[in-house]
Amino acid sequence: MLKGKTAIVTGSTSGIGLGIARALGGAGANILLNGFGDAEQIESLRAGLAQEFGVEVAYSAADMSRPEQIHAMVKSAQEQLGGVDILVNNAGIQHTSPIETFPAERWDAILAINLSSAFHTIQAALPGMRASNWGRIINIASVHGLVASVDKSAYVAAKHGLLGLTKAVALETAKTGVTCNAVCPGWVLTPLVQKQIDARAARDGLSEEQAKSALLSEKQPSGEFATPEQIGAICLFLCSTAANQMRGAALPVDGAWLAQ
Ligand code: NAD
Repeated sequence: MLKGKTAIVTGSTSGIGLGIARALGGAGANILLNGFGDAEQIESLRAGLAQEFGVEVAYSAADMSRPEQIHAMVKSAQEQLGGVDILVNNAGIQHTSPIETFPAERWDAILAINLSSAFHTIQAALPGMRASNWGRIINIASVHGLVASVDKSAYVAAKHGLLGLTKAVALETAKTGVTCNAVCPGWVLTPLVQKQIDARAARDGLSEEQAKSALLSEKQPSGEFATPEQIGAICLFLCSTAANQMRGAALPVDGAWLAQ
């Protein structure tokens, strides 16, 4: 379905981003991976995906909090892989703390990585999509783009902002072949959430399994985590022609979190 297309997936060395890169690569897209991690492991991930799916896979170490590095990443996708047809803004970080003691430096980092990076990637990639009159911009927001939880002021603000940006870009591109949508996961078991499970286990004296089920039962009525593979499959659907008129949407994948 995506043979000949190129996708950038930010934050794709781990978790949800890697699930999305695998789904798009599996459908034939060339991939630009991005994110942090051990250089050798990233190279083996890059080479492994290229071999498994028979697509070109490149890697950029660009830091999504640095606009100049973001522009360089988009340029390198254009030069190495021939363009950017699909842009998935997925890189994100979390920090939890009551607002009174929330470190200003963490606020700035969360706003930069979880929100402003999407402004910069879109600004850099959209002209090429407009020129070919086809493009997919997918912002990985969160249920926290639609509702709040305690101690997550920066994350909730950034994700609400990301949904606003999604709508604004969907309007600006409404008469083109470029669509812009957001996916809003509830709990997905990734390193980002594992940290919160570990913190809860330590705080409440729980085993890991007890902490997982406490986390889920508080918010996610299905009692099950969504998976990176499921989020990847939903992104693939957003790249299909069936989704041509899905524009500016925020799609929850949340085990009925928001139904309550
Ligand atoms: P993760 O920690 O497993 O992966 C985050 C990825 O982003 C990694 O590849 C990491 O290297 C990269 N990254 C972090 N800072 C970066 C930076 N400055 N520049 C470039 N890359 C950077 O997290 P995840 O759970 O897979 O989260 C991915 C996205 O999904 C985030 O935007 C997160 O907010 C969102 N999300 C996650 C969940 C969940 O339950 N896991 C739920 C809703 C939304």
